[in-house]
Parts: sequence; C-alpha cells; structure tokens
Amino acid sequence: MTLEEQIRSVRERIDAAARGAGRDPSEITLCAATKTRSDDTIRAAIAAGVRVCGENRVQELTAHLETQAYTGAEVHFIGHLQTNKVNKVVGRVDLIHSVDSAHLLTAIDAQAKKLGICQDILLEVNIGREESKGGISPEQTADLAAQAAALEHVRLRGLMAIPPICAVPGGNRRFFAEMYRLFVDIREKMSDNQSIVNCLSMGMSGDFEDAIAQGSTLVRIGTALFGPRPPKQPPVSDQPRL
Ligand SMILES: *Cc1c(COP(=O)(O)O)cnc(C)c1O
Repeated sequence: MTLEEQIRSVRERIDAAARGAGRDPSEITLCAATKTRSDDTIRAAIAAGVRVCGENRVQELTAHLETQAYTGAEVHFIGHLQTNKVNKVVGRVDLIHSVDSAHLLTAIDAQAKKLGICQDILLEVNIGREESKGGISPEQTADLAAQAAALEHVRLRGLMAIPPICAVPGGNRRFFAEMYRLFVDIREKMSDNQSIVNCLSMGMSGDFEDAIAQGSTLVRIGTALFGPRPPKQPPVSDQPRL
C-alpha cells in the first residue's frame, strides 16, 4: 500500500471504531507518530491529509522544525521531556502530551511566561503503574491537574497514557477504561476555570480501536501508517572497533 492508502485505511478503522462505540468519528484526532521518519515522509503524510504530527525526541523535533517539514500540520510533543530542554519545545509545539511532574510543569510555565504565551499541555498518567515508565500515578492526577490549572501560562487540555505492552488482544481495555474515568473526573473538576479539558490521548497502532471504544479522543499512530521503524542504532561507543 502507498502511504496515502495506509493513511486512508487507518482513518477508516478509526471511523469504524468510533461508530461501533456510538461516537462521532470527527471527535477523534489522528496524530501521526513521526519518530525516525524523514522530512520527505512527513511532508508526504501531510499532503495526504495528516493534520497532526507527534514527535517524541527533542532532537528530531528541532531538525524537522528547522526544515519546516511540518508545514500544514499541528505539532505535538509526545515523548519524555527533560526539564533542561523545555526551551526547545515550549512555544514551538501546539500541545505537550507528556507532563509528568510538578517540576516539569513549573519549568514549562516559566518558559511560556518568558515567551508571553500560554502552552497547552496534557498530563501523562502511568496507568499500568510500571516502574520503567514515566508518568504520574492515577492518584496524583487530580493534584497535578489542580496545580496546572493554577498556573497562568499553561492550559490543561487533558490526559495521556501509554499502557503496558500487551500480547493479549484487548488486554489494555481496563487501563483505557480507567483513563477515561480519570479524564471525566478532571474535566468535571476543571469546568469552571480557563482549562479546556477535551483531549484524552491514548491508543497506538496495536490497540487504537480498543482505546476509541473506551473514550480516547486522540490516537498516536506510527507503524500502522509508516511501516516498521528501523532498529535503534547502538550508541557509537558500543559499536565494535574495526
Ligand atoms: C512511537 C510512539 C507511538 C506510536 O507507536 P506505534 O506503535 O508505532 O503506533 C505512540 N506514542 C508514543 C509516545 C510514541 O513514542
């Protein structure tokens, strides 16, 4: 299949999953996870109708911004963000999905203030309670949301989650359902301030239909659009000497 056909096919699957859940397909945003992809691939995806690109490494984000590869699309930052790199991301992306500490939240607010803007953010929840993963615990979510709502230069838009890698089909449904309950709770708590809580970012190539059935409003999809990613290159120092 061509990239255009892949995009159309994924969009059709999103729409079918939405209808199957009694939802309006237009409620669900497709975010193309563009890590490791070239400028040309990103431009081709946008030409074929992709409206949101999600980048998860600061270095790749910076490179694609420099060459204006994202022209015509929104850009979201979906990877782990270190506090010392906020100045490379804040004000350059439409939405940061991965806010996972009060420290990072404060740093984003400070940088946004410096730029005179308001940065849209999501809080990342470690819904599978995995030690190896970033994200706040479900119990911390309401507190961090309240902290975000109190800041002048960030605007809380919702929640994001990456559930555990799961071999069993449908195995993550309970995590998606738990995320939806957290999302509704935050949305109700925030309904009387400047936050617009309307984004629940969950679902990837292997499980986006289940995520949509449980209430996702944004799915982040890489391999189902672009094919498998090249294997990670080992750091230079690990390569065998010639
Ligand atoms: C790579 C990535 C995705 C997409 O993963 P696929 O399984 O290729 O669809 C989604 N979210 C994040 C945060 C990612 O880094």
